Amino acid sequence: MRLTFLGTGSAWSLPEIGCNCLICNHMRKKKEVRLRTALYLESRENLLIDCGPDIVQQWWANGLRTVDAVLITHEHGDHYLGLDELVALRRSTAPEKWRPISAYATAEAWETIELRFAYLFEKTLKKELAIPGEALAGMRTKVIPFKTYHGPMASGSVGYVIEEEGKRLAYTSDLVHVEAQVEILRHPDVLVIQSHWLNEPQVNRPSLLSLQRALPMIRAWEPKEMVYLVHISDADPVTGDSANEALKKVAPADPLKDPQTAIPYPIPTCQMEWQETAERAFKDNSIHIPVQVAYDGLQVEI
Ligand SMILES: [Zn+2]
Ligand SMILES: [Zn+2]
Repeated sequence: MRLTFLGTGSAWSLPEIGCNCLICNHMRKKKEVRLRTALYLESRENLLIDCGPDIVQQWWANGLRTVDAVLITHEHGDHYLGLDELVALRRSTAPEKWRPISAYATAEAWETIELRFAYLFEKTLKKELAIPGEALAGMRTKVIPFKTYHGPMASGSVGYVIEEEGKRLAYTSDLVHVEAQVEILRHPDVLVIQSHWLNEPQVNRPSLLSLQRALPMIRAWEPKEMVYLVHISDADPVTGDSANEALKKVAPADPLKDPQTAIPYPIPTCQMEWQETAERAFKDNSIHIPVQVAYDGLQVEI
């Protein structure tokens, strides 16, 4: 399978419009951008995991050609608001050659998504159900959704395990924990996991995964080849940033720290610092698996 990370940012992408925090300012200076998190996967079929509001830009930036199926992880706008853009693919295809794109989401997620996009079902999308624990019907690629917990405002959230050519990829949605079927997450070849915050905040109101909270999950699931981190945000408060208060950045509960000096890790503000910090966190927590902080446009073959 070939993976293209179309976007690796959080709900409003990074740098955030209007945001004057040190993280966003540093990214602007380095001309780094993280669009809304989405993944393109090429195997026997071409799959799009999530289709957020940046899909047109992501399509052109990565030279995408076709989509056979869309796997929606949950009913938050940053993961599905781009579905309407797929109408353009139908418009540019001869009618006799066009087949609606299969779109998978859980019944709970469809309750929200359908309110907005039911009109797409007629010609552009074929509404399909993702049932946790069951392989998706109507696909040649083996894809099994698993239930994740992402707070009361996203009761339909799932991740997906994709098996193809003897490789297994586990892709988590936004989450704070996995609710059931944890067994199918054991020993994937590759794990793509959310790393919204570096440190677990005192109060995790948006129900998103910190790298700190992800570490025991990664240790338990034991991915074999590589861990990719996605859905990076600017939500960790940087010490001394005058924007912390205005942005209501939440203090960490017990930040990740150097085991020798007990000094908390500096908050990463760009790709290079995120990569250094992730490697350090894995090493200091005795997780001997390579980690790559994904960036927009990263392509890998697994
Ligand atoms: Zn910011
Ligand atoms: Zn979400």
